[in-house]
Amino acid sequence: LLYNEVQDLKGTIRVYCRVRPFLQEQKDMQSTVDYIGENGNIIINNPFKQEKDARKIFAFNKVFGQNVSQEQIYIDTQPVIRSVLDGFNVCIFAYGQTGSGKTYTMSGPDLMTETTWGVNYRALRDLFQLSNARTHVVTYEIGVQMIEIYNEQVRDLLVSDGSSRRLDIRNNSQLNGLNVPDASLIPVSNTRDVLDLMRIGQKNRAVGATALNERSSRSHSVLTVHVQGKELASGSILRGCLHLVDLAGSERVEKSEAVGERLKEAQHINKSLSALGDVIYALAQKSSHVPYRNSKLTQVLQDSLGKILRQAKTLMFVHINPEVNAVGETISTLKFAQRVA
Ligand code: ADP
Ligand code: MG
Repeated sequence: LLYNEVQDLKGTIRVYCRVRPFLQEQKDMQSTVDYIGENGNIIINNPFKQEKDARKIFAFNKVFGQNVSQEQIYIDTQPVIRSVLDGFNVCIFAYGQTGSGKTYTMSGPDLMTETTWGVNYRALRDLFQLSNARTHVVTYEIGVQMIEIYNEQVRDLLVSDGSSRRLDIRNNSQLNGLNVPDASLIPVSNTRDVLDLMRIGQKNRAVGATALNERSSRSHSVLTVHVQGKELASGSILRGCLHLVDLAGSERVEKSEAVGERLKEAQHINKSLSALGDVIYALAQKSSHVPYRNSKLTQVLQDSLGKILRQAKTLMFVHINPEVNAVGETISTLKFAQRVA
């Protein structure tokens, strides 16, 4: 059994690349995306480089071009999501510079429009449907937590009074992925419950921030879905959890530009994104030492990030903005992703 699980590990880390479309007023802009292959290849053309050095190729499990719908994205995510009901621990990340489409992929442009819902709502809707269809065999209880990690501090986003306390992380395998045990864990049974909670979460995220966008681009938000199933025949219990993570913007900040708070934020973001990259890389290399302790983000997700003896799956969506003036960030985003793919 152990041998098989080790063999399978590489397959448990998937990387998908998604290219953001040009926005309304940008229709005629030149794109840095030169080619997208069926096999997961993407070629970036950097117009600032000499012709012989301008084109760079990257390879991922899949690449989604500008016109791919939210529904299509979900179809390729669904198998990983559904495995949560069989007791897997799953992490789904949205990585990329600010404005590249991370929040669009995870949440969608607005809560009210189902056709453009992102992975988060589609995943919950799917889990409710599937668990309802299985009630004659297994009864499931589903609960969610929502936290934010900002400047290496963890806050609960689901407190109704906005008092969002700072929380501790505990790494204890008995907790089954409940690594922030003091964050509110709210039972949910339909998408309406989830939408109500998301509104509270979004409101709390804005507290203390000068502008919502500013804050949300400098913090990681983690929506965790905990699932507990009881098999009717045997009475045995299985647990799985799903972490849906909208990461802080990956853009590098010029040292000269950033001072004070902004510099501190940038350093924390840098540190936690590279810690995440290092953990996934170590897992992909089957390294015996996985450096979980280097950031709050990796500590929160530790039980779900590819531990060999647990059942875990990781999917990273890397987002790129096809504008020419974003090409430097695009290449560094794809290099980050290539290292873990
Ligand atoms: P990020 O969360 O990475 O900062 P957003 O998700 O907020 O980026 O996206 C930036 C802008 O681009 C938003 O106006 C968003 O609605 C739009 N956008 C992003 N991805 C898409 C897409 N696939 N299709 C249409 N609009 C998109
Ligand atoms: Mg965002």
